[in-house]
Amino acid sequence: MTQPVFTGNFTQQEPIPETAIEAAVAVMRSGRLHRYNTAPGEDGEVAHLEEEFAAYVGARYCLAVASGGYAMGAALRALGVGPGDKVLSNGFTLAPVPGAIASVNAEPVFVETTEDLTIDLDDLAAKAGCGAKVLLLSHMRGHICDMDRLMQICDGAGIAVVEDCAHTMGGAWRDVPSGRHGVFGCYSTQTYKHINSGEGGFLVSDDPELMARAVMLSGSYMLFGRHRASPPVDTFENVKYVTPNVSGRMDNLRAAVLRAQLADLPAQIARWNALYHEVEDGLRNTPGLKVIERPPEESIVGSSIQVLLPGIAPAAIEAVVAGCVARGVELKWFGAPEPVAFTSRYDSWRYAPAQNLPRTDAILAGLLDMRLPLTFTTDDARLIAEIIRDEVRKQVS
Ligand SMILES: *Cc1c(COP(=O)(O)O)cnc(C)c1O
Repeated sequence: MTQPVFTGNFTQQEPIPETAIEAAVAVMRSGRLHRYNTAPGEDGEVAHLEEEFAAYVGARYCLAVASGGYAMGAALRALGVGPGDKVLSNGFTLAPVPGAIASVNAEPVFVETTEDLTIDLDDLAAKAGCGAKVLLLSHMRGHICDMDRLMQICDGAGIAVVEDCAHTMGGAWRDVPSGRHGVFGCYSTQTYKHINSGEGGFLVSDDPELMARAVMLSGSYMLFGRHRASPPVDTFENVKYVTPNVSGRMDNLRAAVLRAQLADLPAQIARWNALYHEVEDGLRNTPGLKVIERPPEESIVGSSIQVLLPGIAPAAIEAVVAGCVARGVELKWFGAPEPVAFTSRYDSWRYAPAQNLPRTDAILAGLLDMRLPLTFTTDDARLIAEIIRDEVRKQVS
């Protein structure tokens, strides 16, 4: 009997929309790629994009920058985090998150992970007295924790929250957009996120002075008056000579590529969620496999899906992954002894002081992850779920 095989590509995103290509070509024809290189009466693509993104998430201010990692580093620097300071963060996230903490020579204090793949709020409460003034909270793989309780813990301990929304652009908790609970929200527009400019990111905030610092940090020279979603120019009086320039601006070409995609994002989210629910439904009730149920307060963007194989031996998980790959389905196993393609767990970041997170270890030991690019159809999603279910069944019987 021949087994069905999937032939799609898990790292192939959709092409850039034609309207975005036209806007990018117009920027190139103008020669004015630098955000502050504007013709008389022109605001530039970056300034418009910032205003549109601020409106999309309902923030007062927005700054477009060179990457999501840059956005997080700028947020920490604007908050005054410096050498030797402790910063709370997730033990399970992507390398740019602890990297942003290291970029200001601060020290991460890693927090445990729950079975829902969110930050463990009991462990956070226990560590809230460690001396950290900031939590760099990562909504890893799009899973949003109980933000009401998280803010209660952090507000009570005087800890500022910076949100890493690389996987939750367009997501929400109780209808408040992800990135709008903390003092700063950080987003990425790197190719594998929800809008694609190759590299890029955003920082949003309602705090005028913090945002003025971030704008100076990004390398605005004395041209901050040319922004459209920035604090009033008099806010810069206190910060403009005492904030270093750590260049990380976005350029007009990337902004042009992003503006049309931002306008399409709500429709794209609906498509992602259709793929997600197709895979989720196909995997539910598979013996040995646990689907991660999403709470009703959470509005998701299903650009990837995670499942747990709790209590299954490493060799059997390896066999599931190998069986799926042989049939064209690429799964990332976070419990693998050596990280593949990228690092996501605290013990891979050995520049930080060694820490022990046994609950995170136990969860990651059985965690599988899969990207869902929009080049897939719902029929593809159904086939992928069938293949995974089949390969798990072969190992669990
Ligand atoms: C991609 C990503 C970032 C930011 O990455 P950049 O490549 O610097 O834009 C941050 N956090 C997580 C969890 C990510 O996956």
